[in-house]
Amino acid sequence: MPMSPDFKQRLYPLLNDIARHFGTPFHIYDESGIRRTGLDLKAAFSKIDVFKEYFAVKALPNPRIMGIMKEMGFGFDCSSVPELALSRRLGARGEEIMFTSNNTADEDFAAAFKDGGCILNLDDITLIPKLPAIPDLICFRYNPGDRRTGNSIIGNPVEAKYGVSHDQILDAYKKMRDLGTARFGLHTMLVSNELNYDYMVDTARMLLDLVEWISNELTIRFEFINIGGGLGIPYRPGIAPLDLVALGSCIAELFEVFQKKYGYLPKLFMESGRYMTGPHGVLVTRAINEKNIYRKYIGVDASMSALMRPGIYGAYHHIDVLGKNASEYPVETVDVVGSLCENIDKFAVQRELPKISEGDLLIIQDTGAHGHAMGFNYNAKLRPQELLLRQDGSVELIRRNETMEDYFATLSFEENIFRPSKST
Ligand SMILES: *Cc1c(COP(=O)(O)O)cnc(C)c1O
Repeated sequence: MPMSPDFKQRLYPLLNDIARHFGTPFHIYDESGIRRTGLDLKAAFSKIDVFKEYFAVKALPNPRIMGIMKEMGFGFDCSSVPELALSRRLGARGEEIMFTSNNTADEDFAAAFKDGGCILNLDDITLIPKLPAIPDLICFRYNPGDRRTGNSIIGNPVEAKYGVSHDQILDAYKKMRDLGTARFGLHTMLVSNELNYDYMVDTARMLLDLVEWISNELTIRFEFINIGGGLGIPYRPGIAPLDLVALGSCIAELFEVFQKKYGYLPKLFMESGRYMTGPHGVLVTRAINEKNIYRKYIGVDASMSALMRPGIYGAYHHIDVLGKNASEYPVETVDVVGSLCENIDKFAVQRELPKISEGDLLIIQDTGAHGHAMGFNYNAKLRPQELLLRQDGSVELIRRNETMEDYFATLSFEENIFRPSKST
């Protein structure tokens, strides 16, 4: 099921007033729901000595939301310098941050080593000589190649640009050990939006096997394994959610076996984004036009600058029309569209929805992860505000609407003309 019934029950009665107060469109996130998921996650992995979630910042890089994650004891998974800066502004330091970059630049390394450092998750063996210093703790991102299949969304690991190959992984740790690094972790990420928890259990098993092999070969010990993100959420009605409790207990069993065999346990890290916030956000937009040509179009006041997933992935996001229950109201088939000069700027294609009138509020569900964050400014469409429905029922603005001044900000600079000297 998409959006939780509890969020719906608390939000919908307030929605007309919220829309009147803040104007539309907006994403609104549910603090209670996010905290509940955080607690569920901790409970599911409570049998494991040390479990830590590193919230994948790219899913919802809003400081207010990240602050909630930090309060729950979670760290941050970053892959760019601004994401590192966001995390550090919230007071995250050192091992509260994992830096999982790809195609890493010198500036990335410089930032990673600054301000209390972070856990470096290296993406390739050739990056070792490019490190500005030898860190005490290192992690590598492993790419199993044809040893494992990814799911349909993330694709075949052989074609994925991420991680260290199987043939190089032992050498990678050996190089770091010989350079003086004493502490080690191991990471992989093989699936995206996966609802079958078996994939994650297989990933944990694969990493523990790898830990066993590399530890024996190099006489090193691993402090943690990180099984990545990629836990899925059901975007469509009628689909069962991922069984988090079963996931937790299966991985706990693997850990128990490992401990019996080796007398110690690595910590378990995870870096979920979508699962943490995806179902706890919606995009609220108003119907402003109705157009009847070869199809019927409902034009809304948001565009794909607010939500790219339907346009670029053909992703399904469930839509409610406020006050019009689809089971009781006459329905019709429409495309719900934004205003970009791009025909992929649609939130729904040939969707059966309650008959919509101009002025109706549409609730586009499950926009809490990879929603606002993925928005772009093509066609000079500005990104909308973000709101937080707080636990006490009040609503807080947590990011304002983008303005034309924001859009023009990069056009304000000092004249800079380079005239190449004529070579003789
Ligand atoms: C995007 C990403 C995540 C989060 O993925 P979700 O599908 O949101 O859980 C975690 N780790 C890495 C390295 C990523 O690139």
